[in-house]
Amino acid sequence: MRTIDSIIAELQAVASNPKKAMDDYKKATGKGAVGIMPVYSPEELVHAAGYLPMGMWGGSKSISKARAFLPPFACSIMQEVMELELEGAYDDLEAVVFSVPCDTLKCMSQKWKGKCPTITFTHPQNRKIAAANVFTKGEYEVVKEKFEQILGVKITDEAIENSIKVYNANRQAMRAFSDLAAEYPNIITPAKRHAVIKARHFMEKSQHTALVNELIEAVKKTEKQPWTGKKVILTGIMAEPDGLLDILQANNFAVVADDLAQEGRQFRVDVEENTGDPLMALAKAWQALDGCSLATDPEKPRGKMLIDMAKKYNADAVIVCMMKFCDPEEWDYPILIQEFEKAGVKNIQIEVDQEATSYEQTKTRLQSFSEIL
Ligand code: SF4
Repeated sequence: MRTIDSIIAELQAVASNPKKAMDDYKKATGKGAVGIMPVYSPEELVHAAGYLPMGMWGGSKSISKARAFLPPFACSIMQEVMELELEGAYDDLEAVVFSVPCDTLKCMSQKWKGKCPTITFTHPQNRKIAAANVFTKGEYEVVKEKFEQILGVKITDEAIENSIKVYNANRQAMRAFSDLAAEYPNIITPAKRHAVIKARHFMEKSQHTALVNELIEAVKKTEKQPWTGKKVILTGIMAEPDGLLDILQANNFAVVADDLAQEGRQFRVDVEENTGDPLMALAKAWQALDGCSLATDPEKPRGKMLIDMAKKYNADAVIVCMMKFCDPEEWDYPILIQEFEKAGVKNIQIEVDQEATSYEQTKTRLQSFSEIL
């Protein structure tokens, strides 16, 4: 049996070098990859076609070329994606899929500068009515047809059903891993937890599941150590770069759960299996996703979900990781603050800027927050 460190190192290598993961997949299968723009797409369709869905979660480049195409107040992650796009980082993809829940993504889908074709679709915002599922299924049918044309393969219902099972198994493994990380914060540091989860965006899902399950078994064999630091929940689009997560570790914060679009929101809802109508099952999963700033819901359940999560994981606080210039997340924030204050949930907001190389302000704020807690 391999050691915890060696399994985590393998996942960290994938998370930090998606291009190599894509090249390795091509070498092994003879098939390429399809770019998945944040945040939600029916990745199962790409998997069912035998291609690798590749998450496009930006990078940590200094922004220069992207300034010609995006205003400075476009969100940090899309500045990074545009920069990478202009540098040709996505030229080897077979296609790129966009869902367009915010203005920035709408602009990005129209300004695509990469060599490969794009597929754009819409998720309905009036999500809780039956007609929403019919609409979403219609959109997914169009996406599937475009994949078939571009990739030159037939995507059968049987293959989609199988991919749904592969994805559900991965979601279950990720939920189990996230809970285990909360029990072993001395071993699974914030940066390691993030790398294990992020790697799922660049690996064939059954391979990622196998590695995560191996990691879970290895961790379970070790003795639990008492945790003397604070426990926190992260919410937002994403918590990167690692410099930010290292500040959490340095200040003895353990991440016991998350509500990040790049992490927990991706695996908290399973898709119904063996329905005979896999596209409708995928559509219903969008309807069932709650508490995300991109999934419109006038009831705004996110605050309550986070308060319940804080109770469940005995967390000391919630850290709102605010993606720089992300409108949907900024609109949720005033509501969250009021609900947290009312429920007595301690909280702090920190800024996520992928381009940042220095985190002195965040460091000082988190140090003070740790002392307050
Ligand atoms: S949801 Fe926020 S972070 Fe994502 S593309 Fe839109 S503005 Fe950017």
